[in-house]
Amino acid sequence: MKIAILAGDGIGPEIITQAVRVLEALKSDGLKFELEPGLLGGCAVDAAGEPFPEATRRLVAEADAAILGAVGGPRYDVLPRQLRPEQGLLGIRKMLGLFANLRPAVLYPELANASTLKPEIVAGLDILIVRELTGDIYFGEPRGIELRDGQRVGFNTMIYSEAEISRIAHVAFRAARKRKRKLCSVDKMNVLECTQLWRDVVVETAKDYPEVELSHMLVDNAAMQLVRNPGQFDVMVTGNMFGDILSDEASMLTGSIGMLPSASLDDKNKGLYEPIHGSAPDIAGKDVANPLATILSAAMMLRYTFDQEAAAGRIENAVKRVLAQGYRTQDIYEPGMKKVGTAEMGDAVLANI
Ligand code: NAD
Repeated sequence: MKIAILAGDGIGPEIITQAVRVLEALKSDGLKFELEPGLLGGCAVDAAGEPFPEATRRLVAEADAAILGAVGGPRYDVLPRQLRPEQGLLGIRKMLGLFANLRPAVLYPELANASTLKPEIVAGLDILIVRELTGDIYFGEPRGIELRDGQRVGFNTMIYSEAEISRIAHVAFRAARKRKRKLCSVDKMNVLECTQLWRDVVVETAKDYPEVELSHMLVDNAAMQLVRNPGQFDVMVTGNMFGDILSDEASMLTGSIGMLPSASLDDKNKGLYEPIHGSAPDIAGKDVANPLATILSAAMMLRYTFDQEAAAGRIENAVKRVLAQGYRTQDIYEPGMKKVGTAEMGDAVLANI
């Protein structure tokens, strides 16, 4: 298993170091990794003059998976757009054809107070949102702003082919099969033809997965149900725009940005794994960042790219135990808990592995 390690900028190197320690510890289980570092984002601009240099392209092309800290920082915001760190991230997604974005929103019981919702509403929350990442209204043509009858008109095209819908539906059904076998497909078929096709194709795809219980929900209702009764969901699948909005909503139900991993996969389950948060320049270099989202991203990598369910579970259980033992970085700290830094949190996870 060849894994590209892309630390990136800001807190990236600190949090990636802890994820690498955890992966190294699993080698004693007989898992064979080759971990190879590469430059992406602002650090790549500094070292090689561009955010996604040729050496990194080669590395991620050859690797089975890549794990990223985060990219970006105020220092780079003044650069021309093509040299900004975010272009490295867009470049890697495009080059690898990462069309499936998996965002779990899990509420650990010990962190129930971090949510802005009442603890009884979010108790036991464990949702996986599967968002299509390369199609929909964000990429559809024609698009633009033009003059019509003397006034400006803005327009975009919401478009999905059945091939695009079925491949993301397969990802979602397979993910549901590894969980509670419940899939909710979100669309707006009452007004949008594009999403009528979405619903039709999801229903057709369901025939391959008789063991998964499929339901459908309109996106406006889904947005409401996520805050009313999020416990009803297991896996949700939706298009790029609806998924963009719903995945942010779902992740914030847990209240702790430093805890949430993500995966972006291609059609062969090759993937880029990263925490959902950014490079947090305000706390970079201070050994206070929460490394758990990155460590949990490594667990997702083992599950989705390498099909190593047991190893993924070992990491996730270690994180649960660390929280139960009271270890907290400052972002999730409450009085009475043991406040630790980034490296100490890594130590605690390792001790529990
Ligand atoms: P951010 O997610 O970096 O930070 C938001 C807040 O959350 C900050 O107060 C930060 O200190 C805190 N935070 C984030 N991660 C944390 C962690 N692991 N532990 C503890 N606290 C944490 O978002 P931002 O401030 O809007 O963006 C900062 C930079 O990150 C920008 O340059 C932005 O473009 C970039 N960014 C990158 C990605 C990515 O690489 N995928 C995603 C989002 C933002």
